[in-house]
Amino acid sequence: MRKFVLVALLFGAFGSVMLAAQPQEYYLTGNVREATGIVLTGRGEQRVPFFGAIGIKVTLTGKRLTLLLTDLNLVSKGVPAKRDGTGLMSLMGDGGDTKLFWNPKTGQALSELSLILHYELIDKLKGFRKAGSKGEMDVFVPFTERMRGKFVIKFLGGLQVREKGKTSAECELDLELSSAVLGVVKRIRLLMRVEFNWTRLFAPAQYLRIQPVFIGTGPSDPNATGKAFHELMKRAVDLWDRCGSVRCIKFIVNPPLYLNKPAYRVLETEAEAATLRSEVNVADAVEVFVVERMDFACSWGGGACFSSGTAAAKVVTCDQQLEVPAPCPCPAYCPATCPPCPPCQTGDVNYYHLAHELGHALNLAHPPGPTGGLAASTVGSNMEPSGFCCDNPDAQSAKNCRNAANPLLYWSLSICRGWPDIRD
Ligand SMILES: [Zn+2]
Repeated sequence: MRKFVLVALLFGAFGSVMLAAQPQEYYLTGNVREATGIVLTGRGEQRVPFFGAIGIKVTLTGKRLTLLLTDLNLVSKGVPAKRDGTGLMSLMGDGGDTKLFWNPKTGQALSELSLILHYELIDKLKGFRKAGSKGEMDVFVPFTERMRGKFVIKFLGGLQVREKGKTSAECELDLELSSAVLGVVKRIRLLMRVEFNWTRLFAPAQYLRIQPVFIGTGPSDPNATGKAFHELMKRAVDLWDRCGSVRCIKFIVNPPLYLNKPAYRVLETEAEAATLRSEVNVADAVEVFVVERMDFACSWGGGACFSSGTAAAKVVTCDQQLEVPAPCPCPAYCPATCPPCPPCQTGDVNYYHLAHELGHALNLAHPPGPTGGLAASTVGSNMEPSGFCCDNPDAQSAKNCRNAANPLLYWSLSICRGWPDIRD
C-alpha cells in the first residue's frame, strides 16, 4: 500500500512536471480605437489619430513566457504634406511574427521591427506595379515604403496569463523611414492605450469592413447598379468562412452608398474607372464599386483590385459578372498549372469573382506567388486568375487563409465554422 502511494506520488509529481513543461498557447488581442500619432513630413510635425489592431501570441512553458507580435495594423486619414496630402495612410507587419522581449521586472515587452508603410499619394504619383497575369490584369499592386523602429508595450499591472479577461497596456511605437518611394513621411511616433482580451488556443475573428458603392439615386432606384453584389458577397463570405479551422476571417458589409452620376454606369476607359475610385473614400473599409459594365472588361477579367494589401484597397467590378455577354469577346484565361483551358461560358458565370478580388485586397497574389509585394497563394485555389468568361475556382486553401493581411483587419467575436478545401 505504501509502495503504491509512493509510486502514485512519484508519478503525480513527474506527471505534473511533464504537464508543466507542455507549452500552452494564449492570445492577447486588442483594437486600437484612437491612438495619438505624430507624423513628421516636410511641413514639420503634425498630430493625427490612428486606429487599428494588435495581436500577440503568448506561449507559457513552465514559468517561462514567450511573446510573439503576430499583428500590428494601423490606419490614419493622413496628413497634409508639402504639395499634396498623403491621403489614407497605413502601417502593417510584413507577414512574419516578431519576437517581443519580455521583462517581468518592468512589465514591458519590446522589439525592434520593420513595418510596411503605404499612403494614397504614392499611388497617385507613382501608379502601380505590374503584377497581373498573362491574359488578365486584375491586380494593381501599390509601391510601398518601409519604416524601422521600436515598439514598447507596458502592461499595466503586469502580465498574468489567463484564459479570459482583459489586460490594459500603454504602447509606444517610434518609426523612421528606412526604404523610400516618395519619402514624404519621415517619422511616425504613436502613443496608444490598448485594452487587450485574453483567449486560449485561438485568436478571435478578424473582420474586414466592406463599403459597396452603386450608381443610382438610392435604394429605391430600380435601375441602380449593384444587382450582382448581394450574390457575389454571399459567395465571398462562404469562401472565406472556410478558413475557420486555420484562422477566422469575416466580412462586415456597410449599407451601400449611391453615386447619382449616370456617366459611371458604363466605364469606357480605365481612366474613367480611376475617376470613379476617387469619388468615395471610406477610411475604415474596402470600397467595392459596382458598375453596369465596362468596355475593357476582358483585360481585367471583369473587375480588378487596386492598392491591394493596404487600407486604400478598392475593388471595381460590374453586374455583368452574372450576365457575361454572348458571344464572349475574350477567351477564358488558362492557368499554366491547370490545363486544359476551361471552355468560355456566358450568363451567370463569375460567382466567386468578388471572393477572388477580396483575396487581392487581403494581399494575396495569383498562385503561386509571392509577386511584387503580394503574399503567396495556392495553385488551384480561388486565387487562380480566370478571365471574364470563366469563374475563379470555388476552393479555399489554408495558405491563402494564413497569408491574408490588410491593415483594416480588426478583432471581434464570431463563430468560425468550416475548413479549407485545400490543406496548403
Ligand atoms: Zn486576380
